[in-house]
Amino acid sequence: MLDVDGRRALIETVARAVIDHADELTQLDQAIGDGDHGINMKRGLEAVLADLDGLAQKPMPEALKGIGMTLVMKVGGASGPLYGTLAMTLGKELPEPADRAALAKALAAAIEAVKARGKSDVGQKTMLDVLAPVAAALADGGDPARAAAEAAEATVPMRAVRGRASFLGDRSIGHMDPGARSSALIVAAAAAALSP
Ligand code: ADP
Ligand code: MG
Ligand code: MG
Repeated sequence: MLDVDGRRALIETVARAVIDHADELTQLDQAIGDGDHGINMKRGLEAVLADLDGLAQKPMPEALKGIGMTLVMKVGGASGPLYGTLAMTLGKELPEPADRAALAKALAAAIEAVKARGKSDVGQKTMLDVLAPVAAALADGGDPARAAAEAAEATVPMRAVRGRASFLGDRSIGHMDPGARSSALIVAAAAAALSP
């Protein structure tokens, strides 16, 4: 179970990993979207960091709910409500303390909530194409960070079916999905912060 310092380190590591890659995320979104994914995520995660001490005081499920609400409120665009739903559902489903199997189960439930919210599914070149393989890796003993990186790479040849990139049709092929990349950054940072 994470203590206050562990939760602070986890939340801060994840937020900074995304903020530090905001330009890259924006460039990916310039290729197949409206070029704001980095800006959107940065705005949301800076708001999370602004409340870092308050969030770290809370048990992880409550902290995740708080992070989710902040993302819904502060992130413009599709990714705000979707990442917000992911974090809030994770918070609702995660027992305290949670082992790896419990995390896998909670993440699977959170992914279902994102699918419902986004009217989307795996295979449509979105964040779901990273999140679902990560849940599978957690459940079957794989390396979540590695699964996330490979899954983000695997969105390059995909054709977007949801989100702004879907407006491009076949021209969305050949670029990594920005939300897949941000999900991979989040997973890699969380795995690094949680590894003993
Ligand atoms: P917007 O597209 O509204 O400008 P962002 O650029 O912040 O929002 O986020 C775009 C990312 O959100 C996409 O790269 C994709 O991963 C994700 N996304 C968009 N629509 C959906 C959806 N319906 N379901 C799942 N993920 C989605
Ligand atoms: Mg965008
Ligand atoms: Mg936008």
